[in-house]
Amino acid sequence: MAKVTFFSGQQLPLEMHKVRIIQKLNLLPIEERQRAIAGAGYNTFLLQNTDVFLDMLTDSGVNAMSDQQQAAMLIADDAYAGSATYTRLYDKLVELFGMTYFLPAHQGRAAEHILSKSLVKPGTYVPMNYHFTTSKAHVTEMGGEVLELITEAGLEVTSDDPFKGNFDVAALKALIDDKGAEAIAYVRIEAGTNLIGGQPLSLANFRETTQLCRDHGILTVLDASLLADNLHFNKTREAQCADMSIPEITRAIADCFDIIYFSARKLGFGRGGGICIRDEAHYKQMRALVPMFEGFLTYGGMSVREMEAITVGLDETMDEDMINQGPLFIEHMVNELDARGIPVITPAGGLGAHIDAMRFLPHVPQQQYPAGALAAALYLASGVRGMERGTLSEQRDPDGTEPMANMELVRLALPRRVFTLSQVNYAIDRIDWLYQNRDLVGGLRFVEEPEILRFFYGRLEPIGDWVEKLTEAFRRDLGDSL
Ligand SMILES: *Cc1c(COP(=O)(O)O)cnc(C)c1O
Repeated sequence: MAKVTFFSGQQLPLEMHKVRIIQKLNLLPIEERQRAIAGAGYNTFLLQNTDVFLDMLTDSGVNAMSDQQQAAMLIADDAYAGSATYTRLYDKLVELFGMTYFLPAHQGRAAEHILSKSLVKPGTYVPMNYHFTTSKAHVTEMGGEVLELITEAGLEVTSDDPFKGNFDVAALKALIDDKGAEAIAYVRIEAGTNLIGGQPLSLANFRETTQLCRDHGILTVLDASLLADNLHFNKTREAQCADMSIPEITRAIADCFDIIYFSARKLGFGRGGGICIRDEAHYKQMRALVPMFEGFLTYGGMSVREMEAITVGLDETMDEDMINQGPLFIEHMVNELDARGIPVITPAGGLGAHIDAMRFLPHVPQQQYPAGALAAALYLASGVRGMERGTLSEQRDPDGTEPMANMELVRLALPRRVFTLSQVNYAIDRIDWLYQNRDLVGGLRFVEEPEILRFFYGRLEPIGDWVEKLTEAFRRDLGDSL
């Protein structure tokens, strides 16, 4: 992507690639979308993809591959052990991160499973800038406790802080003084902090946080799943990175850590994951779990074809024109929504645009899941599928009480290299319409609430007849447009 100044004076993102394979999309009329969302229990996870126009649910495993990636898949070496494909992936990871050891895993959470099973003992703490759903679940499962040490700025919904993902170093120091370094299993730092809106950390903060850990002999772990976006922001927002190449910034970040794990469903435009490890002792500690839970050490549950695609995808991640499409589209979306007075998380981050449902639907109480209701309403109004990131995505406490989330967000992920600018503009327009009709949108309640990860497959229903009213208003305002 390039940001180009048009003759009109407008600055717009311009694609630096062309589309050579297409997939036809369906845009159902609103009445059919109404039936589809009801059939899905008002949970966008349960929609059929054929009923979705623009799938902005996630950036996971749905990023577009390049011609080079597809070509590489043809030379994949099918061997149970010692595949040349593994060696190519391994060499690329060593080149980028400079760590000697690599354990493959079938996706990011599988890497988290191996890490927490090896490193988390009951009663230990795992401080992190912010939790990610699966990272927290794995630490908790092993009897550890997740502590979120995000700076105060990180939780401010509207801000011009360029690095809202930064770790609160002072809070980490206080924690070490209070509990002692031995009580900390490891410090996990998540690049491009997912659940607070894809917000990055500065290179300076990576360095300061991990230096403090090293001073106290605490193990440092980087979750690099969203590293590509973070790299773009280091390059464009941090003075000391402006003259560094993307590979140089990557290595500078990697050099801070003992362990780096990632979901290749995001990093590397493929499907897989793994753990890069600096020293032999940690490698040996984790190695036995890979054949037990994932697959042999040279594939770890991944298809060799995907591994080839990831190797090339990691290389493409080192190209600023390849990794900036997401951030530039998101910036366009966030700025356009903001200009229309629609509450969004600012500044624009990576991964997607995040609508603040608490301010979009101030009349819907948190107990009625405003972000879930907004995600359902947005699908109805547009065929765009977003994801609830709020109270619905939280877990009940062991005593059954329902904790209210810090934020109620609808995330509109922009999978990398997938959408065009006119599709993004359509989404902006329909969100604008919904905002003008926000008073019509009501809350949701559970009909079926699973105990674990309830947001994935829980079913809900609208409180009152707001879905019918919203459909009528759409027809009134937009005639027979889809
Ligand atoms: C997606 C994600 C994971 C989990 O990866 P999966 O491949 O979906 O299992 C972990 N951490 C972060 C930051 C993520 O975005």
